[in-house]
Amino acid sequence: MSDTELNRPMENAVSASSAGRGGRIVVAGAGYAGLHVALRLSAKRRNNPMELTLVDRHDYHQVLTELPRVAGGTRAADAVRIPLQDMLAERVHFVQTEISGFDLPSRQLLTRAGPIDWGRLVLALGSRPNDFAIPGLAQRALSLYSASDAERVWAAANKALEAAAAAADPERQRRLATVVVGGGGATGVELAGELAEMLPELASRHGLAPDRPAVVLVEGSPTILAGSSPQLIDNATRILSDLGVQVRTNAAIAAATEEGFRLKGGQLVEGGVFVWAGGVKAPELVVGSGLPTGHNGRVKVDRYLRVLDHPEIYVAGDLASVVDPRTGHVLPSLAQVALEEGETVARNLDAELEGRPLEAFTFHDKGFVVSVGPYRGVADIASITSGGRLAHLLKDAIEWEYRQSVTHLRGWDPLAR
Ligand SMILES: Cc1cc2nc3c(=O)[nH]c(=O)nc-3n(C[C@H](O)[C@H](O)[C@H](O)COP(=O)(O)OP(=O)(O)OC[C@H]3O[C@@H](n4cnc5c(N)ncnc54)[C@H](O)[C@@H]3O)c2cc1C
Repeated sequence: MSDTELNRPMENAVSASSAGRGGRIVVAGAGYAGLHVALRLSAKRRNNPMELTLVDRHDYHQVLTELPRVAGGTRAADAVRIPLQDMLAERVHFVQTEISGFDLPSRQLLTRAGPIDWGRLVLALGSRPNDFAIPGLAQRALSLYSASDAERVWAAANKALEAAAAAADPERQRRLATVVVGGGGATGVELAGELAEMLPELASRHGLAPDRPAVVLVEGSPTILAGSSPQLIDNATRILSDLGVQVRTNAAIAAATEEGFRLKGGQLVEGGVFVWAGGVKAPELVVGSGLPTGHNGRVKVDRYLRVLDHPEIYVAGDLASVVDPRTGHVLPSLAQVALEEGETVARNLDAELEGRPLEAFTFHDKGFVVSVGPYRGVADIASITSGGRLAHLLKDAIEWEYRQSVTHLRGWDPLAR
């Protein structure tokens, strides 16, 4: 389904105005955090129904953690779009529309379909790519933040290899057949690994020598997967090297031009396709909304995940700026964090409805797993590092379990672990 088709209301959806009239709880965003709140709260309140409205621009939930597979051509884009109608059944009203802002004094969510009143609002609008104001980056590089983005990356790789196959000059052929990925965090590593494994086969299909394509991973800091254990970084670096990925660390991008990524030292990294996976920030509509914001525009919350000075608004997922008291750092933008925060928000909304005290949010880190290509991966779980096939199987198992939890209307249950 194209993004342009998506601003019409979903069949059987309530209209925005009727959703708002009696609806007390409105969840903005049907990603990891928002969908979790909707599924868990409606399940908790099965015998004590309340009015719950979920709003999103899409009528499907996107399994973002699987996007590198779509970008590497091993999974169809539609396979990572799960129709919301299948998951929400009758328990939740769904409104498909673009949210454009908030009227905080009137307690209204402003949308293309009209204002939606809330008694309690949950903000779970995720992130958008952060280009850190690097000149030319937004225009020149593709991003990887939706199934459509991922499709575009695979299509661009196809087109570039086709053009490379038709080029007579070997220098031009080499340049066109090179995919440059900016950002050596988990998304950049996963994407580089997938592409490195799949591009030789794609090259053959275009009549190009399988050793012609190249993948370059450009990272500004001294290491990829910064913040991970040295063993995990070593394992990932070794697998990337096996796959032929050229990893360039300490290589900060100063500008993106027609020729390629220009590094701070002046060197040019040339290629046929450029993808930026170097970071995320809060959605535009939060800027100037009157909500208190912190690092990267994320909304500041209290320990119950309510917006500071706005106890009627909860925030969960990437949009929430939650400081981990153990490290003093803001929790990273991860699905794992979004799901745990969604769980606390669902419990606190239920507690409010039942007149019970609220629960403070505590993050329970389950570990870190990154796929490096379609067959191998790296994992740090309970201080044990593994690398290879097993780590990839673990990633597959986590994704399988997540899909089971949402398609069976359960929501992921942290207590079940
Ligand atoms: C390529 C990629 C790979 C990743 N891999 C991993 C991984 O392996 N493990 C991991 O833990 N994390 C991973 N992440 C991070 C993880 O996906 C995010 O942390 C998670 O999606 C955050 O959940 P969320 O609910 O806050 O936001 P999202 O899941 O992004 O959901 C936000 C929702 O809000 C909707 N929305 C936003 N703005 C509007 C608007 N104005 N109007 C209407 N609707 C709107 C969007 O359509 C979306 O449905 C990955 C992210 C990417 C991009």
